[in-house]
Amino acid sequence: MSNTDQTVSPSRLATYVECPRRYEYQYDQRIEPPPDGEQYKNRGIVYHETIAAVCNETGDTEDEADIIEYARRYFEDLWSRECSPDDYKTLSHYEYDRKLTRTGIDSYFENGPGVKHARNSVATEVTVETEYKRTKVNGRIDNVVQTDDGLSLVDYKGTLSNIITSRTVGKLKEHLEGDSYRPKLVKSAIQAAVYLEVIRETDLFEEGMDVSFVYYGILHDHEPVSTDEGIVPDVSGSGRDVTNLCMDNHGTIWQLIREAYQGILTWDFEPDPWSDIYRSTCDDCPYMEMCPDYLGEEVKIE
Ligand code: SF4
Repeated sequence: MSNTDQTVSPSRLATYVECPRRYEYQYDQRIEPPPDGEQYKNRGIVYHETIAAVCNETGDTEDEADIIEYARRYFEDLWSRECSPDDYKTLSHYEYDRKLTRTGIDSYFENGPGVKHARNSVATEVTVETEYKRTKVNGRIDNVVQTDDGLSLVDYKGTLSNIITSRTVGKLKEHLEGDSYRPKLVKSAIQAAVYLEVIRETDLFEEGMDVSFVYYGILHDHEPVSTDEGIVPDVSGSGRDVTNLCMDNHGTIWQLIREAYQGILTWDFEPDPWSDIYRSTCDDCPYMEMCPDYLGEEVKIE
């Protein structure tokens, strides 16, 4: 039995790779996880929407100062709309996170590639859907930036800590072969590989264009610094182009995608590899307190 009409996003595939049972709860049974960690979700919404709004507003006439001013204005509006002190343990946590996010956005536009991205952005929050290698995939690309050779797809993250590098890309094959369990690295590879393919199905792509995929960690390096005005965050972002890593490992990544997709289509939600999932993933899972697999293991241990 299977549901062959399913279209899945990279984020759904990644959830399945991390734990098929979690996929079942989240997407098949649609059980709402408890509202924990709202602040990080809302902070992500703020920096994604601020950047999208600035890119959409920027035309041909704005200078750098105008673009930075847009960023400040949109940040203030979005922060007050999306974030609340109620989501934080204390007011100090809330204030610090506000400064951290604002400084991250300032740094992206003032010292990073933000102004260039805003000037050359051709579309933001681009919805894509296609079938590739018998896998129906959809998703949303944060920012599509025109380059001299074609298009650069930019995905914004908090940090780059779980994004593939030349040093870690070999773990993808190990994960595929069951010798390693690296779902977060796999997630970064799946997302980039899917979007590098599906962009070709959109009106933005023209034959002969080069396409690259860049992860940009808005808060990649950050630390609190003590000043006369109290503790303030020192933030700098960082970008990582993973295009070549994806191209060099295209077969492995698409095999990972195919296997996750097949598992989803056939409702195979057994948490496998169980010992790795239990050791590395359950503790951070919002379904932990209701999950029989996890609870059964806890009972066994006691
Ligand atoms: S608690 Fe563990 S086994 Fe259960 S859904 Fe979450 S990650 Fe999967």
